Amino acid sequence: MSGRIAVAAVKPGWPMMVARLWFCLCVGIVVAAGPASAADRAEPKRIVLLHSFGRDFRPWSEYARSIKAELERQSSYPLDIQEHTLLSARFNNPGPETPFVDYLRSLYVGCPPDLVMSIGAPAARFLQKYRAELFPDTPMVLAAVEQRLVNRAGLTGNDTVVSVYNDFAAFFATMLKVMPDTRTIAVVTGTSPLEKFWRDEIKREARPFEDRVAFVWLADLPFAEILARAPSLPPHTVLFWQLMSVDAAGVSHEGDNAVRQLHAVANVPIFSYQEAFFGRDTVGGPMHSIADVSSRTANAAVRILDGEKPANIRFEPVQFAPPRYDWREMQRWGISEQNLPEGSQILFREPTLWEAYRWQIVLIAAVILMQAGLISGMLHQHRRRRLAEVESRQRLAELAHVNRYAAVGELTTSIAHELNQPLGSILTNAETAELMLKSASPDLDEIREILADIRRDDQRASEVIRRLRSILRKTPFETAEIDLNETVGEAIGFLTAVADRRKIALRFAAAGNALYVKGDTVQLQQVILNLIINAIDALAETETRAREVGVTTVRSGAFAEIRIEDSGPGITSNDLRDVFNPFFTTKPLGMGMGLTICRTIVEAHRGQILAENKPTGGALFTIRLPIAQ
Ligand code: ADP
Repeated sequence: MSGRIAVAAVKPGWPMMVARLWFCLCVGIVVAAGPASAADRAEPKRIVLLHSFGRDFRPWSEYARSIKAELERQSSYPLDIQEHTLLSARFNNPGPETPFVDYLRSLYVGCPPDLVMSIGAPAARFLQKYRAELFPDTPMVLAAVEQRLVNRAGLTGNDTVVSVYNDFAAFFATMLKVMPDTRTIAVVTGTSPLEKFWRDEIKREARPFEDRVAFVWLADLPFAEILARAPSLPPHTVLFWQLMSVDAAGVSHEGDNAVRQLHAVANVPIFSYQEAFFGRDTVGGPMHSIADVSSRTANAAVRILDGEKPANIRFEPVQFAPPRYDWREMQRWGISEQNLPEGSQILFREPTLWEAYRWQIVLIAAVILMQAGLISGMLHQHRRRRLAEVESRQRLAELAHVNRYAAVGELTTSIAHELNQPLGSILTNAETAELMLKSASPDLDEIREILADIRRDDQRASEVIRRLRSILRKTPFETAEIDLNETVGEAIGFLTAVADRRKIALRFAAAGNALYVKGDTVQLQQVILNLIINAIDALAETETRAREVGVTTVRSGAFAEIRIEDSGPGITSNDLRDVFNPFFTTKPLGMGMGLTICRTIVEAHRGQILAENKPTGGALFTIRLPIAQ
């Protein structure tokens, strides 16, 4: 245990020595107190971790991060991981390493850690070289080191190696399969001793491919120069990213800055076998799995901490994992999935629009379908309503026709009288003319006058028949722009004789200007006919008062009005509500359909019909129709 060798101190500074001795003394007391207790097991295990170039140099930084996470996961002990960085790996002519060795010895002599680990080849080389001096009895794990860079002869029974194998030949073969048109492979690598070593190794392994492709070595250039050349590399070139820890200008490149900059400007794809650069800037291929190497390393470390002999823990060098490719880079460089080797995995595939927005698309489609359904339903309804309207107008026209027959039927006597009058005059005049012609010297002027009378009476009779035919015409409901004054005037002309016979004054006061409305002449005339006949009927019982029916047309705002009033008894206030209802009648032989038909016709013209009593007595019916635009 650390406490027992605490006395083997060398000569570090006094304060550090005092602190270290105090720590070791405390540990010694605990050990001397008796056999291992639960408290002993909870004592942290101290691990020294040595980095090769620095904490942030890829790929080792990613290995270190992953190994530490795995150690924390797998270890049953609390861990105290102390990290140091070997700076000398960065330089081609490093100064003497002795001061760094002295520094480490001063830290750990007399109080060695429980385990020493190296990350990467330079750190492994350093630990192997100075282990006798620094950590003679401490177990050691050399991690993330290529098997060519392990000094096998220098390994002791207290060492375990978790190495990898860089199979460049396999990587190039896969790369050429993925991009079969490749003519040039430009190899990017830095100029630190390690990177130079790899450049030579790659050159050696590239030889079998030289008859298929040309190799360009971007190895002895400052990285800025490589970046300058990258945008205009010849077609069918690929970049092979080995490492860029320290470039020819002596500039160190931490993290993934360098590969990221190259990716931003290069006109060709970048390939690398290091997983640490995969996920954004490189296409992919067979790569070392950081998770796999880390898991083995942590496993070895934990077993050693648990007391297993390092010599018994042996691993074969870790080979490349099955190839993995970045879907985004494949799209960018037009790499077909068919070119990928069997068993390849494609990562970072961007979801299709359908995958990304499935629910939104389904929802929108459902809403659109619903809307389409609603619209088509409404159109269907609209069509049905129109058909129903046409149908109802048809029925209305038929009903109105029947109603006109009924109305005219009521007027038969008057019409017959109206016809008889001119016909009788014609007969009388014709007989008179015949007699005059029999005389020896007929008065021709007189005969001419008689003939003119005959012609006038004939025209009167024709006019009666024309009006009768026009009112009894069976027509479909058809609207046209009509002058209401003319329409009303014609209807009144039809009834003048009837009114005369019944000794009723039928007066018509037309509006000064023409009143144009959109309407069906025959149907509107029927309304007027019905209303005037009703007024005449109402006056039948009125013997004492003046017997008058007045018809007026007038413009009222955007409407044309026809007012039909009489001097009859009016409508009782109870009946006012019902007069437009079907079959409402107060007449012994009435049908009660006249006003119902009137209202239907007026409403079909988008108008209104109102019934009221005049303050002076008698009924007043008002029809309002919209003026035609
Ligand atoms: P009918 O003439 O067959 O009775 P209408 O629908 O034309 O059918 O009229 C319904 C009722 O309205 C009439 O029976 C009558 O009582 C009343 N009426 C209509 N016009 C007048 C009017 N000018 N004066 C008084 N009552 C009227």
